[in-house]
Amino acid sequence: MTISKEHRVDQSRDGDILILTINNPPVNAFGAGVPEGLKAGLDAAAADDTVKAVVIIGGGRTFVAGADIKTFNLPREQSPDLRGTIEKLDAFGKPTVAAIHGTALGGGLELAMGCTYRVAVKDAQVGLPEVKLGVLPGAGGTQRLPRVVGAQKALEMMLSGNPVGAPEAHSLGLIDEIVDGDLLAGAVAFARAHADARPLPRISEKSVQGASPEVFAAAREGIKKTHRGQLSPSLIVDLAELSASTSFQQGWDAEAGKFMEAKDSPQSRGLRHIFFAERESAKIPGIDKSTPTTEIKSAGIIGAGTMGGGIAMNFLNAGIPVTIVETQQDALDRGLSVIRRNYENTAKKGRMSMDDVEQRMAMLTPTLDMGDLKNADIIIEAVFENMDVKKEIFTKLDGIAKPGAILASNTSTLDVNEIASVTKRPESVIGLHFFSPANVMKLLEIVRAEKTSDSVLATSMALAKKIKKVGVVVGVCDGFVGNRMVHRYGDEARKIVEEGAKPQDVDASMNALGLPMGPFQMSDMAGLDIGHAIRQHQAKVAGQPKPDGWLDRIVEQGRKGQKTNAGIYDYDETRKPKPNADMQQLIETYRSEKGISPRDITQDESTKRLAYSLVNEGAKILDEGIAQRAGDIDVIYIYGYGFPAYRGGPMQYASEQGLSSVVADLEKYGQTPAPLLKRLADEGKTFADYDAEKGRG
Ligand code: NAD
Repeated sequence: MTISKEHRVDQSRDGDILILTINNPPVNAFGAGVPEGLKAGLDAAAADDTVKAVVIIGGGRTFVAGADIKTFNLPREQSPDLRGTIEKLDAFGKPTVAAIHGTALGGGLELAMGCTYRVAVKDAQVGLPEVKLGVLPGAGGTQRLPRVVGAQKALEMMLSGNPVGAPEAHSLGLIDEIVDGDLLAGAVAFARAHADARPLPRISEKSVQGASPEVFAAAREGIKKTHRGQLSPSLIVDLAELSASTSFQQGWDAEAGKFMEAKDSPQSRGLRHIFFAERESAKIPGIDKSTPTTEIKSAGIIGAGTMGGGIAMNFLNAGIPVTIVETQQDALDRGLSVIRRNYENTAKKGRMSMDDVEQRMAMLTPTLDMGDLKNADIIIEAVFENMDVKKEIFTKLDGIAKPGAILASNTSTLDVNEIASVTKRPESVIGLHFFSPANVMKLLEIVRAEKTSDSVLATSMALAKKIKKVGVVVGVCDGFVGNRMVHRYGDEARKIVEEGAKPQDVDASMNALGLPMGPFQMSDMAGLDIGHAIRQHQAKVAGQPKPDGWLDRIVEQGRKGQKTNAGIYDYDETRKPKPNADMQQLIETYRSEKGISPRDITQDESTKRLAYSLVNEGAKILDEGIAQRAGDIDVIYIYGYGFPAYRGGPMQYASEQGLSSVVADLEKYGQTPAPLLKRLADEGKTFADYDAEKGRG
């Protein structure tokens, strides 16, 4: 059945009060049919002298939870007319009351602020989260919120995007009354009590409190740290300032233009892309709600090193008891003390209590006996990155783990099929690739091996959610998605230095794109010895001579990165990288030995070569089916590698640049474009088109 637009809002009467109920499930987004229904309701109320006031309420579980983000891509004349609805509310001659339960976010709060009054239940939440999608409140939010809560608080709410609870909103004057008991009955009673209030206390007619120049200057300073390089936060500050210095009408008009500017920016497109890509990445073709899953009530972890300890914390934080295994008592003690210290540091910062620390530690059972894992629902191996060691462990586990237990490896590069092959139950084996520090980084690559069962995969996806990770399914290959791409990126970074750039300039070229760390800052942090060992190993396997790049020479001096306070850079306790003149000399000597005459490399060239090396490898990964969607790769890069969300991830960034210009630049700088990338470029398409082609948009 098609529902006519008017049917998104029901009209009913309670004596002299007209009730408008918005019904646009699931969250009453301000989509098609809602503005038409509200306007029709207001017209009916205006025409009927027996109506003294109007209550607007959401049907179902919430008030209007926000604008419908999918309508952002529509031309303005086709998008739901939120501004027109609010203008009509503001000009309306009788009191209007927004009755809020659930959430009133973004357009929902703007609609509520267009009403004369707002009442809410205690657990309702209100806020203006637009900044998180690279836009700004575009229907009066930037002009009305400062008029209600003052300049400083309005800036804080609009720049963080975080909602406030109804009790706080009440104390700020944003909610006029908290309703105990039935919301509609309370709202109707409130409307009746205020039916004769004249003049109507319109927010648009108030003035802004606390609008000193210092408040706006401090906000501008603040966003340099919190939103470096982003457009919409600075537009928000400008508009908030305008709310205090001009008439409401002028501010309202200016806001419309700034909203369009932000909405049409690549940054907002990037953030919206990630918003949808993250939701899409949770879907796996062939797996749905009917796929059986098991509940994970206990976990076993093998190895209490850097990763094992962090992984254990995720489970403890989610209330899942953990048994952690080491081979030696001192390694076990060390692992436990690191976990305790991490928790105590969190407690010192006031983010948990000492009781919480003890409770979590009490859920952790240390042991030297792998046999103690026999009851665990999932066992995650996090020992050294060595195939023989891993195979030995999985062979033993096969004899210990209960039937149906998930056997997972945290390997960063090794073949999960080969690991699974040593067990009699390869369907229970999966890769769960956490990122360091594992208790902090949100990404979890879920590596689906050839024989991994659907149930194990679905359970792992559900588990990721439970331990508050963003799980993305990937296939088996060397380095899976993230590290395979980052290896190519590292190769290109070293090449750029070889050709003439300084490491700090290469890092700066990625910082300029918004990454907190460039390739060399990142490899110093991860440890240079790991990459060095991989390069040596790969050369040996390929029967090639021992690698002797400039970076290999640095590592061979014992400079392993941050852990030795010396790598490509020098470090002190601040962990800020400082260029080292001897290393620069080492690079120059290397070049002259190899007969390379250095040339100037611009920041633009460096940024493009690095970003596009990721994209090119990403295209190969897509073509091989190792990642399901380009959007999945973007999610991986944002949550695992610090790629700025406002660029939308490397694949979206490339699409924004235009894939034919990416291909041209790759060719110009001597990289061979991947066939898929070339095809899309030739057809004038983007990676989003590719995802749509696959039916996975
Ligand atoms: P680590 O050296 O810090 O820890 C490994 C721990 O495993 C050590 O404490 C060691 O004593 C213990 N161990 C070795 N053999 C064991 C056995 N038979 N039984 C029980 N414990 C044993 O190493 P890590 O950095 O934590 O890496 C662990 C795994 O995680 C590796 O496969 C690595 O590739 C992967 N990984 C590492 C990172 C990272 O950034 N460090 C990121 C993702 C994945």
